[in-house]
Order: sequence, then structure tokens, then C-alpha cells
Amino acid sequence: MIVLEDVHKSYGKLKILRGCSASVKLGEVVVVCGPSGSGKSTLIKCVNGLVPFEQGSITVDGVSVSDKKTDLPMLRARIGMVFQNFELYPHMTALENVSLAQIHVLKRSRAEADAGSEKLLARVGLGGKLASRPSQLSGGQQQRVSIARALAMDPKAMLFDEPTSALDPEMINEVLEVMQALALEGMTMMVVTHEMGFAQRVADRVLFMDGGEILEDTPKAQFFTDPATERAKQFLTKVL
Ligand code: ATP
Ligand code: MG
Repeated sequence: MIVLEDVHKSYGKLKILRGCSASVKLGEVVVVCGPSGSGKSTLIKCVNGLVPFEQGSITVDGVSVSDKKTDLPMLRARIGMVFQNFELYPHMTALENVSLAQIHVLKRSRAEADAGSEKLLARVGLGGKLASRPSQLSGGQQQRVSIARALAMDPKAMLFDEPTSALDPEMINEVLEVMQALALEGMTMMVVTHEMGFAQRVADRVLFMDGGEILEDTPKAQFFTDPATERAKQFLTKVL
């Protein structure tokens, strides 16, 4: 579903990604972890074309992200992205936030979009919050709205960049539970997270990044019991 081959990315002279290759198969959940600054966010943003890269290739469901002929807005619409800071429109209700791109990008009617949004908001446990603005919602609720918004585009895959790291501890689980349910339903997911409990429960494989490289691409069970590299071992002693 997602294939990265030898992806290189620099900001000016600074090399950020140094030849990253990996793949996420249909229905797989891949957790990306590693120290701060190792390039996790950059990598995941390359996958949906938010960050251009100089060398290598990324395809999503066979469509090249860097090919100039690719309709990037449409490709991006079909890859759900959930960020650390929710990125909701503050002046819109939960329902409007979830409906907006369905109307403008997928050209659904407002009635059709709203009907879909209501179902999705109910699915993430927010059926009673349709008319609430982000400022009237907790962080965990806002993040669940942003997950519903991504799902509203019928995504082929979902990318998450530290979706719970801005949340108070008591709200982390409500978001992880929604993500776990998605995974069980077979959604293809790439998740940057330091929530190693989530990784242990839900991931199929773990990618460990350091210094712009993917040092490990390891089945979950092995990553947590017997990681291949010393650096991953050190990282695990800090986060577990
Ligand atoms: P964290 O765990 O802190 O989120 P990360 O692994 O997601 O870290 P990235 O955000 O991908 O790391 O950043 C990797 C490196 O790229 C860092 O050294 C960062 O300073 C640099 N970087 C990221 N975005 C930019 C940018 N827009 N311009 C210049 N340098 C950048
Ligand atoms: Mg990051």
C-alpha cells in the first residue's frame, strides 16, 4: 500500500533523511519510533506529499507522490493525516470540521457530507458533540474529531504523527482506543508514537529511526524483546 524507496531529504545543507526504505502492506499497522529529531515527522510528511524530497520514490496504492502528473491534493485527501496539535478550524463546529473537505474536495452535497460526519463522530464517541467548537472540547475530544475528519475522506491509509503527545494522560487512552479499533477493522496505518503500550498491542512491525535512517524494521515481538541494534536497545530502556 505504501512503499518508500531510498528517500533522501535535506533542508539546505542539513541532511534529514538519508536513504529511507520501508513498506506498509494493506491492513498493516507500522509504528515509527526513535529519538527526537531523528526524522520521523519528516518521513511521514513525505508520504502524503506535505514535504517534498530530492531523491528516491514513494508510492501510495501504486500512485507516485513525487510524480508531477499526480493530483497531489486528491492523493493527499485519500491519505488521512492526524497531527499532534489536531489542526481543527477553531471557528467551525465538530460537524463542520468533519464535513468541510468532503464538500470541497470530494464534492459531496452538504446533506450527504453531514450525514456521513454524524456517523463518524458517533463512531469516535462524539455523537453528542456535533455542534461544539474545538474550544468547547477537551484535547482528547478534539483529536477524535480530527480522526473522524480524516476518515470522512474514505482514506486508503492513515498517517498519525504523535497523536497523543499533546494530551493530558487521562485523555490518551480514549484516542488510542479509537486508533486500535481502526486497526482491528483493517485500516492500513503508519503511526509515529512514543506510546510503546499501543505499539505492543497494535503494531505489526516497528520502524526505529535515528539520524535520518531507518535502523530497524522489525516485527513487533522481536523489537520489544530482542531489538537488532544497540541504539534501539538504549531507546527502549528510556521509553519502556
Ligand atoms: P520529534 O520526535 O521531536 O517530533 P522527529 O523525529 O519528528 O522529532 P523531524 O521533525 O522529522 O524529527 O525533524 C528532523 C530534523 O529536521 C530535525 O533536526 C529538525 O530540526 C529538522 N527540520 C524539520 N523540519 C525542518 C524545516 N522545516 N526546516 C529546517 N529543518 C527542519
Ligand atoms: Mg516529530
